Amino acid sequence: MKADLHCHSYFSDGKHSPDFLLKRAETNNISHLAITDHDFAYKPAKAEKPKSDVHLISGVEISCKWQTREIHIVGIGIDPENSVLDSLLFKQRESRKIRAEKINKLLVELNIHGLMNYLDSQRAISITRSHVADFLVLSEATKNRKSAFSRFLGKGGRAFIPADWTSMEEANHAIADSGGISILAHPSRYQLSRYQLKCLIDTFKNSGGMALEVSYASINPSIQRMLEEAALEKGLFVSAGSDFHDTKAHWTDIGKFPQINPMAKKFAVWRHPNWCP
Ligand code: AMP
Ligand code: MN
Ligand code: MN
Ligand code: MN
Repeated sequence: MKADLHCHSYFSDGKHSPDFLLKRAETNNISHLAITDHDFAYKPAKAEKPKSDVHLISGVEISCKWQTREIHIVGIGIDPENSVLDSLLFKQRESRKIRAEKINKLLVELNIHGLMNYLDSQRAISITRSHVADFLVLSEATKNRKSAFSRFLGKGGRAFIPADWTSMEEANHAIADSGGISILAHPSRYQLSRYQLKCLIDTFKNSGGMALEVSYASINPSIQRMLEEAALEKGLFVSAGSDFHDTKAHWTDIGKFPQINPMAKKFAVWRHPNWCP
């Protein structure tokens, strides 16, 4: 079994369809794939026949606020129709729309016009800053996505608007209520000190979190081991996923991340009681 439990489709800021992701997973010898869009839980239409041998696991990635920061919680094996989860995700997507309108106002003051029309033309159900970054590149306000974030959309940028995200507790609760497994996404990507990371993991666990993502694209092996040890110490399960968005980003692909180390595999999320492929 090889599972990739974190990736994005064009329903949020990925570039490809769920069917494309499943085919790519099949080509890359993945047995279980979770599509985890930002604040949107994809559900294939009931009548649709599976188009590949890969097991599709329902998923989502929820943006949360923690202290002054933004952290991500992945939920897998969720019921997308669960009312607690559905209303939380709806609220999050509304916050995303409000943020986009505020960003648009700032851009108009900078004489950059057309964001709202661009967003309306997109397939996304969940609007992200990646879409705004693509718009800024397309309208030649900046040269690439990276500079769109540093000059405009990131903290300190000219069009930075903080979003009004839910708490970790609420996200963990909604995932649990819908029968899923909550996973702290890419813990080493929040630019935290060792001490802050320990606090984050403690708070995540104490607010109902179930697992840590310990392997993802380009993770350093010593950090992976540290996360695996933290999971074992805290009684958390471990998960792994590529966070794939786009075939044009060559540093990542479906299934492209290191194996979970043998000691930690005993606590892999597929051994969690809520796992049901
Ligand atoms: P949002 O959830 O709307 O704040 O959008 C965040 C998404 O933007 C992330 O999931 C990444 O895919 C992307 N992103 C965040 N920071 C950067 C960056 N510095 N450069 C490129 N993409 C980024
Ligand atoms: Mn993203
Ligand atoms: Mn994330
Ligand atoms: Mn992600």
